[in-house]
Amino acid sequence: MLSPPPLRNDCFALPEGIDWMPVPLALERLKDRMQCCVKVHTLPVDQALGAFLAQEVSAPNAHPPQANAAVDGFGFDGRLSQEAGALHIPLAQGRAAAGHPFDGKLPYGEALRVLTGAPLPAGVDTVILQEDVSSDGERLAFNGPLKRGANTRNAGEDVTQGTKLFSAGHRLEVGDLALLASVGVGQVHVFQRLKIGILSTGDELQEIGQPLAHGQIFDANRPMLLALIDRLGYQAIDLGRASDDRDHLRAVLNAAAQSCDVMLSTGGASDGDEDHMSGLLNEADSLAIWRVAVKPGRPIAMGVWNAMPVFGLPGNPVAALVCALIFASPALRVLAGGGWVSPQSFLVPAGFRKTKKPGRVEYLRARIEAGRVVIFPSEGSGRVSGLSWAQGLVELGAGAQEINAGDPVQYIPFSSFGA
Ligand code: AMP
Ligand code: MG
Repeated sequence: MLSPPPLRNDCFALPEGIDWMPVPLALERLKDRMQCCVKVHTLPVDQALGAFLAQEVSAPNAHPPQANAAVDGFGFDGRLSQEAGALHIPLAQGRAAAGHPFDGKLPYGEALRVLTGAPLPAGVDTVILQEDVSSDGERLAFNGPLKRGANTRNAGEDVTQGTKLFSAGHRLEVGDLALLASVGVGQVHVFQRLKIGILSTGDELQEIGQPLAHGQIFDANRPMLLALIDRLGYQAIDLGRASDDRDHLRAVLNAAAQSCDVMLSTGGASDGDEDHMSGLLNEADSLAIWRVAVKPGRPIAMGVWNAMPVFGLPGNPVAALVCALIFASPALRVLAGGGWVSPQSFLVPAGFRKTKKPGRVEYLRARIEAGRVVIFPSEGSGRVSGLSWAQGLVELGAGAQEINAGDPVQYIPFSSFGA
């Protein structure tokens, strides 16, 4: 199967004259420009959870493959049970059980012991529940009428042979694996798991476990983003920390382009002197600095380094997570071979008051308490404790707003992002 060409160097280029980019335009732009960047391989179904299908899949077999009993009971020809009142049917020798079909044909006028999942023997099209009969081992007695076909499953009633099950780009979930297995699909052609390199940049960053010197802070972004990528079902590659040194960062980018399909970096993404990620992408003639009208969020630097798309997220952990969820995660899904999916949000009554200025879309750290959505008391984007407290985000549109308690607001649980 042909692999698509790599992303073009200018794929993140901004429209002429755009300075501040509204959030919907940024999302539309990403949606238009992203394309699958991974190859196809074949995986056994039991290893394919979370993979994106590279081809549509149809059912090679029907499900169920043959008519069978839906309950434990007794089977017979349904013409015998059409009358109302007490009915008696002699019992034949033998039985049909799951995995142990009854050989031969049941003579008309007789009944046979059948168990759930047993293929219906010839001569049986109706099953009566064992709780509804009396039996002395020789005969059955029960009250009619019983509908012909009762308590049976038809061959193919769930899936007929040849039915299209999934389109290309579908992500395989838990139930899908059961469906594929039930129709006998043992292997699937799927896109290789997207490999995403996670890099933190900044001279102030110290590794957890090391003593903190004056002026240093611990690197909070890397564990957060490695975990996010893992949760999203991609392969996270820890690229460590890079200092604010252009040559060092260049070497890191070169190495990453060999082992990763995409890179998410944090820090150094604005256009200041120490913002070397933007500087290097600019050298590669591929830099686009997106000043998205979003809070929290600093500019996002995007570009392509040796065919590897790079998302240069803000260094601030709150902004880094919001930008990773809102902008990077739908883009990653497309790069991984899936379609663009917007996170599901819910209108929930506000458990807070707020006056919002016009201009930017705001994402507030939020969670549900007693049926209302409450927000973290501080909107300070340095407050990492609010990330831990939150279970989702409230999204407030770009316009000015006066929100009072009880007003419906858009709430996006982290789980809507797959996080
Ligand atoms: P920058 O985007 O590099 O200008 O960083 C913005 C802010 O985020 C600064 O206060 C940085 O110290 C902080 N920051 C950058 N990277 C990280 C990180 N990996 N973990 C925690 N804070 C960070
Ligand atoms: Mg920095």
